[in-house]
Amino acid sequence: MPNGVVQIPPPINEPNLTYGPGTPERSELQNRLQGMLAEQIEIPLIIGGEEVRTGRTATAVCPHDHGHVLATYHQAGAEEVERAVAASQAAWHEWSEMDWEARSAILLKAADLLAGPWRQTLNAATMLNQSKSCFQAEIDAAAEMVDFWRFNPYFMSQLIATQPESSPGIWNYAEYRALEGFVFAVSPFNFTSIAGNLPTAPALMGNTVLWKPASTAVLSGYYTMRLLEEAGMPPGVINFLPGSGRQVGDPVIANRKLAGVHFTGSTAVFQGMWRTIGENIASYGSYPRIVGETGGKDFIFAHPSADPAALTTAMVRGAFEYQGQKCSATSRVYVPKSIWSQMGSTLRDQVHSIAVGSPLDFKNFMAAVIDESSFDKTMGYIQQAKDSSAMEIYAGGDGDKSKGYFVQPTVVLSEDPRSTLMCEEIFAPVLTVHVYEDSAIEEAVELCDTASPYGLTGAVFAQDRKAIVQLAAKLRHAAGNFYINDKPSGAVVGQQPFGGSRASGTNDKAGSAANLLRWTSQRSIKETFVPPTEYRYPHMS
Ligand code: NAD
Repeated sequence: MPNGVVQIPPPINEPNLTYGPGTPERSELQNRLQGMLAEQIEIPLIIGGEEVRTGRTATAVCPHDHGHVLATYHQAGAEEVERAVAASQAAWHEWSEMDWEARSAILLKAADLLAGPWRQTLNAATMLNQSKSCFQAEIDAAAEMVDFWRFNPYFMSQLIATQPESSPGIWNYAEYRALEGFVFAVSPFNFTSIAGNLPTAPALMGNTVLWKPASTAVLSGYYTMRLLEEAGMPPGVINFLPGSGRQVGDPVIANRKLAGVHFTGSTAVFQGMWRTIGENIASYGSYPRIVGETGGKDFIFAHPSADPAALTTAMVRGAFEYQGQKCSATSRVYVPKSIWSQMGSTLRDQVHSIAVGSPLDFKNFMAAVIDESSFDKTMGYIQQAKDSSAMEIYAGGDGDKSKGYFVQPTVVLSEDPRSTLMCEEIFAPVLTVHVYEDSAIEEAVELCDTASPYGLTGAVFAQDRKAIVQLAAKLRHAAGNFYINDKPSGAVVGQQPFGGSRASGTNDKAGSAANLLRWTSQRSIKETFVPPTEYRYPHMS
């Protein structure tokens, strides 16, 4: 876009549609759901813009109806990884040197396609393959992904406008180059928007990408890839490689062209990848940028001045929306005895009132957990609570995997503040509560800060301002996203940049300039207009 300093339109968060009875979005979504249920598509790899079929197939099913096959997808291995690296490098020169405004235009167009004609395709795929209620799909696959694609170009324009000082006779400037090589984007099952952001944020900065979606979220990943193609993403810039973690991950990480990893998923997988990169470090062309957002054991800490009703709602929504499968889901709560006596039974009544079932029935608040191994792991934790003398099932505690992987919303009371359920990420609808003596608040805050290795999200509930200030200070490093009198989930792009520290990740804040900065390698350029022609300095005369 020559001869103009182009401005990216200041982004506004995409509004969430309601899907209330009689709304046009409700009938459009229902039509799209029925259409997807009636077909069984075949999903190829997409490498250099070409469809690739390996014949090594797996199926994408509905977690709430695991006998229903939505798609058959082909899986990548070492040979396809090699082909994808070659495609990414073939695309690299033109893409990395393309005007930043042109790259931005592709994402801005993708955002408009998603907000408009593609909205219900992405929502329906997310509901069916990831078992989200329609509203949970809407805030993720539609609204948040649109936000990533509108805010990131804007943040890039601000970032590259950051330029150094110049001095008389000298002009200094910074060039924001792409990384040499390719970026490996590895996405989790639980957010379609995160899956869309992981490859596109580095691509926006001029990088080419190998993208491995989660095996339990291939359907929404595939439609995201098709949408990006329609928006004008050139062949080879993003290469779509479904497959098993190791079959795809090992050959990618062994490749000397690896320039970065953009990962969201579990802590153990991230640490394994980092370890292998460390072992291979001498073999890469440059030092790979490693960005990872991982697990959490997100807390609510209630002070004796907390509003019991607000606390109860935050616990129910924070713990059980999307079946507790948000990295930010509330999973441990510290409540003083004085407050628990006012709201414990209301919490139990509300949890018992939660409707669980297929997301096709819009009355349901919760659907199924993602797969059998998640179901079995969760029921194992619930069994530990049943077997322990220091824990008690306060609500729920049942599960049924005969048709879908349904776990009832469960509240466990743990007298032991360091029980496994108080400390380990479960990633399912299990909320563990420790009731502390009001007089022992200091010890309770200390436990909240130290009981788990994570530092992702957390909230305090208090009406006493002095207590809010003190709790925020004591829990400064316990959460990268900290909430006061609100549930610790539901971060909005541009408003609460998201990420955690400690074992939760590198805290590079998805959907912010800080994240984009990781995908560029600056060149500092100094131009001297009238260069000296005498080597001797004045002090030498
Ligand atoms: P996961 O770690 O099982 O999988 C994530 C991705 O890594 C998948 O695509 C998987 O196939 C891939 N993978 C697995 N082994 C690999 C290997 N050896 N090499 C390369 N790739 C490999 O996580 P998940 O179950 O999909 O997602 C849930 C986890 O993600 C939870 O721990 C949750 O807290 C975390 N999460 C964190 C955030 C955040 O922003 N902090 C957001 C969403 C999810």
